Amino acid sequence: MDKCLTIDVARLDRDGEDVEGVLDDSVLDLHDDYLHPFAGIRYSLFVQMAGRELVARGTLEQDFDSVCSRCGGDFDFTVSVPDFLASVETDEKTEFVDLTDELRQSIILGLPTYPVCRADCRGVCPTCGKNLNEGPCACAHEVRDDRWGALDALLPEKEKD
Ligand SMILES: [Zn+2]
Ligand SMILES: [Zn+2]
Repeated sequence: MDKCLTIDVARLDRDGEDVEGVLDDSVLDLHDDYLHPFAGIRYSLFVQMAGRELVARGTLEQDFDSVCSRCGGDFDFTVSVPDFLASVETDEKTEFVDLTDELRQSIILGLPTYPVCRADCRGVCPTCGKNLNEGPCACAHEVRDDRWGALDALLPEKEKD
């Protein structure tokens, strides 16, 4: 896997070029115990000069191995950037344009603040610590009953029916 994505400006087709590949995900340089990129940054770009500006647009994808912020379970997810766009000013001396950092920033911007294994993850029981996605725990009913009890106390009229 490539460690950087550089465009050779002098050799770039005047009508633009498709540039595809996989960039080593170590360039993301994440120091997060709960977030591990794998399989590289997949990019599919169209790169073209617009005057003195090099414009790259396309899609990016990066897989992550992560830990759910609700239930603590391991899960994988993919950050997809469907509308990647970068433009870099060049001058007559520019030979190469390095897009590595643009790709890196775009993937990092796409990361969720609190990754969850699924939208309806039930998390863990605050009392016994059981992962509630695997089924109810012995104390789940008590927690639910307490909540209804508190609601009933707020609505005394309901008791009179
Ligand atoms: Zn979860
Ligand atoms: Zn429990």
